[in-house]
Amino acid sequence: MALYRSDAFVLRTYKLGESDQIVVLFTRDYGKLRVVAHRNRRGHSRTASYYQPLTRLHVIAYGRPTRSLYQTHSVDIAQAFRVLHEDFNLLSCGLYMTELIDISTQDRQPAPELFALFDEALEALAGAGQVPKGAPASVLTTRQHERQRVTPPMVLRHFEISLLTLSGYALQLSECAHCGGELPPGACGYNARAGGLVCDTCAATRHTLKIGHAACGYLRGMMGHVPLPEMLPDTAAQQEMERLLHLHLTTCLGREIKSYPFLYL
Ligand SMILES: [Zn+2]
Repeated sequence: MALYRSDAFVLRTYKLGESDQIVVLFTRDYGKLRVVAHRNRRGHSRTASYYQPLTRLHVIAYGRPTRSLYQTHSVDIAQAFRVLHEDFNLLSCGLYMTELIDISTQDRQPAPELFALFDEALEALAGAGQVPKGAPASVLTTRQHERQRVTPPMVLRHFEISLLTLSGYALQLSECAHCGGELPPGACGYNARAGGLVCDTCAATRHTLKIGHAACGYLRGMMGHVPLPEMLPDTAAQQEMERLLHLHLTTCLGREIKSYPFLYL
């Protein structure tokens, strides 16, 4: 019998028998872990309400290392991220990131960098949500260690690009993703199959998504290739980045993201 003690986020829950449930956790120290949350005969459990997404828990679980399901010894809330539960837009963003984490992680395969990224992204999202609408927001993006204006869509873009990099699907932005040749200095084409920006020669014979100069520059900044521009890109450039990253994510992960349409309700 082994003891598993870790901070964790709930990814999903599903019913087990009449009243119990299985909780799929993303733990900092052990990766994805499935635990049983028991209820008493009347269906009550003191901790059942703790098991909801977008809440950082401290969980102690136990079980045989060879089994796929563990029992919970105790669970406490470490951070509630209450603001994310009170605003539909922020909730949608948080649940979208939760689904991406679920798709990108495996049972009992530790991914502490992904855990840190998720935790930081939720902090940034909560910070962006606490800024009054219309005010010049200025919250710390801890990953970039730079102060700049952060909005929920830009938190998602940072999260997507970092998750792709940590998962081995880094965008190729510094040279042609198909032939390795030099990229044009301004606007570029993105080709999903190649996995990044392509040169004009390769773009001529491939389906590409047109990405303007500003979006290319900001993406390179987010990847750490160049200093991150001081100003956020304009709406058109943000939309180009959003479309490119969605295409890259669905191509690399090989599936649609169910919570994606809820981002635009
Ligand atoms: Zn090329």
